[in-house]
Amino acid sequence: MKNNKRYAMLIDLRKCVGCHTCSVACKAENSFPVGVFASWVKIIEKGKFPHVSRSFLPLSCNNCEKPICLTNCPVKATWKREDGIVMIDQHRCIGCKYCIASCPYDARFVNPLKKYVQKCTFCHHRVDVGLVPACVETCIGRARIFGDINDPNSLISQTISTNPVNVIKPEMGTEPRVFYVGLDLDAADPIKVWKVLED
Ligand code: SF4
Ligand code: SF4
Repeated sequence: MKNNKRYAMLIDLRKCVGCHTCSVACKAENSFPVGVFASWVKIIEKGKFPHVSRSFLPLSCNNCEKPICLTNCPVKATWKREDGIVMIDQHRCIGCKYCIASCPYDARFVNPLKKYVQKCTFCHHRVDVGLVPACVETCIGRARIFGDINDPNSLISQTISTNPVNVIKPEMGTEPRVFYVGLDLDAADPIKVWKVLED
């Protein structure tokens, strides 16, 4: 039977307190080794003293509707589930890094111990048994919502329909499935990890 679910995440930046609990939970849940992250928090500082502000932007794979990484993998190691989660077949991956080079979100890395590429898969192993991703479960600000955007009654669908939401780099045409409320468009480039923006 066809799976009509389409999983997505929403992060309400008005509630994010920059505690990095999501990053730690992701690493622990997925046993990612030291030095690599599938989920991280960018810190954004703006202005000049004494008129300064600080905000936070959690980043990860967007599990895009049209993933460029999938198109560019020469051995079809990257694939997409019916529910939209973008996966990597570790037995097929040859570590060529084409997907890393093509992802506009800097979301992928080579696991230095296992030698194949990994990234956020919305904790698919948890989703498959009815749980939410570890970052959603542990977020102390309750800033993250995970669910099925094909279900109009889901909390994520209702939150998207009642709030102004943005995605990162929409111009890339990847149709990201991580939505943000309160996104600072000036700071949404994930490659610039620390940046102080002058007024
Ligand atoms: S964010 Fe990058 S790695 Fe994730 S699905 Fe999109 S293109 Fe692929
Ligand atoms: S590193 Fe692996 S998943 Fe990425 S493009 Fe190469 S074979 Fe595909």
